[in-house]
Amino acid sequence: RIAYVNGQYVPHALAQVHIEDRGYQFADGVYEVCLVVDGKYWDLDGHLARLKRSLDELQIAMPMSENALRVVMDNVRKRNHLPSAMIYIQVTRGVAPRNHIFPVGLKPSLVMTVKPFDLDQSDAKAAKGIRVITQPDIRWGRTDIKSTGLLANAMAKHAASEVGAGEALLIRDGHITECSSSNAWIIDKDGVLITHPKSHEILSGITRETAKACAQELQLNVVERPFTLDEVKAASEMFLTSASSVVMPVIGVDSFKIGDGTPGPITKRLRESYKARARAL
Ligand code: PMP
Repeated sequence: RIAYVNGQYVPHALAQVHIEDRGYQFADGVYEVCLVVDGKYWDLDGHLARLKRSLDELQIAMPMSENALRVVMDNVRKRNHLPSAMIYIQVTRGVAPRNHIFPVGLKPSLVMTVKPFDLDQSDAKAAKGIRVITQPDIRWGRTDIKSTGLLANAMAKHAASEVGAGEALLIRDGHITECSSSNAWIIDKDGVLITHPKSHEILSGITRETAKACAQELQLNVVERPFTLDEVKAASEMFLTSASSVVMPVIGVDSFKIGDGTPGPITKRLRESYKARARAL
């Protein structure tokens, strides 16, 4: 496998950044994960726009132009002979002697890696649906920035995996924010789709935005408001959205079944609609 590190394409096993990279010492950096299926990038404009936004919020410069980033992404993918892949892009503030106060105008570090993605495998998982567990949302107050500081997310998802669940549903101040690496949605008894509004409390998913557009095309009602665990338990369907899981049905939360405990019909339609939209790009 080949990785991209600061201007060079290198064997994955030999790819390195300096020990005083601020990404390593302070999680002072941001990332994006985006999907390419059969050579077609899904929602790439949205992912690159969010990368720029995350960097702006942290006063880190874009390491290169958006177009140059697209070229590097394609190079990494092709050098790894992967028509379908998850592409990981990470930009950190750069290398400097350890000090909380950062030098202004440091040269950012840019790293890209890829891993294979198999849409059929993802479809097979979606056909079964996943179970989730609830966890307290103990993350910092700016989770709208796609920061590499993911310790709370990692601990929550690890707790889920230890009991065989696929995701951790995060609860803050009595309402659901999102999951450890995806946005959470419920569908109520009237068929209304509900998801947390954009705010500093969630990462505004690119998949969430496209799913919203798909829902509107399907003439479904979408309401963006916080919802509670009681509403989750009473929901007729639940699903998650993220670049890597697309639209993923949830069949149970903790010890509760959602609906009849199988992926819901509206969720299935939404996933199909999402894939059709991506294929038509
Ligand atoms: N929330 C969190 C915390 C995430 O890490 C992710 C995925 N990286 C998402 C939501 C979904 O975002 P997207 O649809 O852009 O992948």
